[in-house]
Amino acid sequence: MNTCPWCGNQTDHLYVEVKDYFLSQEEFKLYQCDQCGLLFTVPRPGPDVIGKYYQSDEYYSHQENKKGLIPRIYEAVKSVNLKHKVSLAIDGLPKGRLLDIGCGVGDFLVHVQQKGWEVAGIEPSDDAKSITQNRLGFLPLDPSESTSFADRSFDVITMWHVLEHIDDLKTQLSELKQLLKPGGRLIIALPNYKSFDCQHYKDKWAAWDVPRHLNHFSPEVICSIISSIGMDFVDTQKLKWDAYYISFMSERYLHHSLPLLRGALLGLISNCKALRSGMYSSLVYRFNNLIDE
Ligand SMILES: [Zn+2]
Repeated sequence: MNTCPWCGNQTDHLYVEVKDYFLSQEEFKLYQCDQCGLLFTVPRPGPDVIGKYYQSDEYYSHQENKKGLIPRIYEAVKSVNLKHKVSLAIDGLPKGRLLDIGCGVGDFLVHVQQKGWEVAGIEPSDDAKSITQNRLGFLPLDPSESTSFADRSFDVITMWHVLEHIDDLKTQLSELKQLLKPGGRLIIALPNYKSFDCQHYKDKWAAWDVPRHLNHFSPEVICSIISSIGMDFVDTQKLKWDAYYISFMSERYLHHSLPLLRGALLGLISNCKALRSGMYSSLVYRFNNLIDE
């Protein structure tokens, strides 16, 4: 039996077996909790060993100035995507204070700061932290130091593809709840395994990304978890570029020829299907922190 990292329920409900195609080639199982619905990775590498699964030159999230066609496309798309993310996070709000959890090399924070916002970041990687310090003039905090921020001091907290990497969901979410002002906005971006690209690639779907992704959320499950900590669901927004990137990576795992072309086609089909279903490859969930607990 396996213990659900969110609700503690025991389950032997195997959902899918997936391999770490990206790096280690090790195999993992995803179990589904029958009580809260969360999918979680088993075995679940602890904080002492998870680091080795991130040691790759290809882990694009922390890369800068790479040469070649794919990185260039990636950079161009990232720039458009960033502007979209900034608008999802702060448009319509008066200038305030924003915390980005898992801020990486500070790409998102740079853009938010340019809009006149005060920004802060949390990031585990020392390399990424020092790059952010050079760009933004402050050192992001380590996840273990996050309680040193004052309670209720942020208007917006963002987690762009971060919550799926978090081992201790309960602690992380309760800390985040404390840091957010009453009425503040929480933004969570996650892969969506209810998307067409996941249905198509099945166990080869690149956004399973085990064991780096420890938790896998459906729209229903993330909304129910976040509402249980006292936040109101506001809306769901799409990240349409992720369908192309995930499909391209999945095509590579399948060793298909022309992965860029096939990935582009599948990404397009996924986005078209999602026009109706809303089930985009990645979704951005917006929540409002309730004033009374
Ligand atoms: Zn559960």
